[in-house]
Amino acid sequence: MLNCDRSWILLLQCEFGKHPAPRLISFQYTPPLLDAAIAPFFFFTWAVDATLFGKHTSMICSSPEKAEATLDSLKTLACPNCKKIGFLNRHGYLRGYDCLQDNKRSIRANRVFCNNRSAAKGCGRTFSIWLAGTLKRLSLPAQNLWQFLSSAAHCPNKATAFDAIDSSLSHSTAYRIWDRFQKAQSIIRTALMRLCPPPHLDELLATQRTIAHLKAAFQLAPPGEPFVDNPIAFFQVQLQISFF
Ligand SMILES: [Zn+2]
Repeated sequence: MLNCDRSWILLLQCEFGKHPAPRLISFQYTPPLLDAAIAPFFFFTWAVDATLFGKHTSMICSSPEKAEATLDSLKTLACPNCKKIGFLNRHGYLRGYDCLQDNKRSIRANRVFCNNRSAAKGCGRTFSIWLAGTLKRLSLPAQNLWQFLSSAAHCPNKATAFDAIDSSLSHSTAYRIWDRFQKAQSIIRTALMRLCPPPHLDELLATQRTIAHLKAAFQLAPPGEPFVDNPIAFFQVQLQISFF
């Protein structure tokens, strides 16, 4: 009992009180460990589910007009978390820096609140409505990010590829973004499988194949949508998940 995990102690205290009566059955106080062979599989499944399908913390619209129309019709929409209709309210903005506007603070997304105050029956959680051309935790627009990634995938010098997009960000940022893209590849390619199979280009590097897969998925973009040469924006709208 002295060596068991505190959360399990609290759980047992809730269940049986602080001084449980002795029982003949001996409880296993520490959670069982997963078998080493299957633990990575469980972790991978959890990570993909949590990232792609588990959390509904954002909604992504293809244009400002569609975002405004969505905000105007909040009362007719179901909350993505609790699925109840009629309790969504506007709840301010998410602000951040825009590298195309001299790094000034600007509105990056609208927050929405599922009202649980007074007699309202919402869940009390918030989510945000983003534009497809905006990326979470990155001041670079999706259009510029695509220009950088698509050229950097074929260029050993990432700083040179970054110079072409005429951003005020430093060269070290270019390498940080590239590193972020490399680490997110497994999630991106798993998500892309929902749109189309990857093209057979085995001779290419992994990053080049991810870029090729994004281009292949972009072929599915309807002609009327405002995704001019922007597969990342299409990815975000079509799958309703953040690129990275
Ligand atoms: Zn809700």
